[in-house]
Amino acid sequence: MRWKDQLLTLTPYQPGKSIESVKKQYNLEQIVKLASNENPFGCSIKVRNALKEELNGLEIYPDGYASNLREKLAAFLQVNEEELIFGNGSDNLIQIISRSLLHPNASTIMATPTFSQYRHNAVIEGAIIKEVPLVNGGHDLEGMLAAIDEQTNVIWVCSPNNPTGTYIPENKLIPFLEKVPSHILVVLDEAYYEYVAADDYYDSIDLTRKYQNLIVLRTFSKIYGLASLRVGYGIANREIIKALEPAREPFNVNSLGQLAAANAIEDQNFIENCKRENRQGLQLFYDFCEQNQLDYYPSQTNFILIDFKVDGDRVFQYLLEKGYIVRSGKALGFPTSVRITVGSQEQNEGVLKALGNFLTELKQQRVEM
Ligand SMILES: *Cc1c(COP(=O)(O)O)cnc(C)c1O
Repeated sequence: MRWKDQLLTLTPYQPGKSIESVKKQYNLEQIVKLASNENPFGCSIKVRNALKEELNGLEIYPDGYASNLREKLAAFLQVNEEELIFGNGSDNLIQIISRSLLHPNASTIMATPTFSQYRHNAVIEGAIIKEVPLVNGGHDLEGMLAAIDEQTNVIWVCSPNNPTGTYIPENKLIPFLEKVPSHILVVLDEAYYEYVAADDYYDSIDLTRKYQNLIVLRTFSKIYGLASLRVGYGIANREIIKALEPAREPFNVNSLGQLAAANAIEDQNFIENCKRENRQGLQLFYDFCEQNQLDYYPSQTNFILIDFKVDGDRVFQYLLEKGYIVRSGKALGFPTSVRITVGSQEQNEGVLKALGNFLTELKQQRVEM
């Protein structure tokens, strides 16, 4: 068969290790997964109650327009219903955007390291990829502007950025948006939006009104705790949404996901509590880093990237054997770091204790050498 050449250069996405596989492999009873930035508190009880009622209609196709969810979300965000597009996770929206705008004669610009799916989808479409290195863990927006050429169709901006947790302040983002030519789509991926606490963060929805070439991506997978149901959404002006819609599969968001998301919006108390717990958890990680003189990026998300100055796989493996699954920085472009999701207080204290032991053993090994 004549597969696209570029497919041969790709490997499937490598997810974080699963709880079950680690349990078996290391014969452990308790496993804590802090690898995929999932919400340690699950989802709102209101969502679980609503889902129990929904199990009778599984033979019916979902509402392809997600009407009820659309109505609730539009009201919550104070946007028009026509300014929303839904995806089977925001991953699906990245795919839809790539399908719609990228091809072998188009170029696309992104940071590196950043979320892997921008590059992955651009490769599949055969687009010319321009990766601009992060500076101090943040986007080099000047560098990204300089990378624009005649063929540029899409610029990907991840704020807060995965895997660094850094964000773009308003006074940097606006001058950037001002300078991007209006025929180039800027994709602002805000998967961690609800966790942001910085004062100088921008109002991205407001920006979609000012900049007709901007789409904002958000998701119910992270703070809303619904990663398994796959619901993401994009916010942009009607023209952008209208152009993208034909590239969306008709039934891309399943019924349970739609129902869960619509109910999840209504429990903002849960979201606020998760955000507060997360800030407290992050502080524990910061304190640990300061005490042990480890470099890290201050985070606006529910994860932290810590530089241990040793092979990240080694830290990963040590924690794995203690029952903590984290993400080695090696596959994420930071070979001596690990990325750890902020968990519950108990989980945070546990993983930090294990990391403390790791550092102690490391010191002993160095003395012995
Ligand atoms: C997790 C994540 C996504 C994907 O979220 P889904 O809605 O679950 O597909 C997108 N972008 C970034 C930066 C993420 O970290």
